[in-house]
Amino acid sequence: MKIDGGCHCGNITYTAEVDPDKVGICHCTDCQTLSGTAFRVSVPAAKGAFHLRGGAPKIYVKTAESGAKRAQAFCPECGTPIYAAAASDPQVFNIRVGTANQRAELRPKVQGWCRSACDWVNDLQSMKQFAKQRS
Ligand SMILES: [Zn+2]
Ligand SMILES: [Zn+2]
Repeated sequence: MKIDGGCHCGNITYTAEVDPDKVGICHCTDCQTLSGTAFRVSVPAAKGAFHLRGGAPKIYVKTAESGAKRAQAFCPECGTPIYAAAASDPQVFNIRVGTANQRAELRPKVQGWCRSACDWVNDLQSMKQFAKQRS
């Protein structure tokens, strides 16, 4: 499916073609830190199917547990994480689903690094809920 999106301040925009069956959650501690939250949701787009339309992301290269160097692209103005990819000659861009306008249709199908998942993530339904700002 075709998606489009961008960062919070509007500096970075993109379009992409993705397979909604490939949406995944990552519970690794790097994703927890880099997203600033409990887990990250991403969908891969092949090199030829991901197009930056505006702005230039800043790149932070992290070294994964495997030793792989991964480029973390984010907006230099507002800090929104946009995608991760191989640090050199990337063939796949793992788009951060929260930046896509179609995020509600991009339902995760798989979870990785569950060994470091917060143990409450499977229990969200039991928490008190508010339609808007919690009181
Ligand atoms: Zn921005
Ligand atoms: Zn991760």
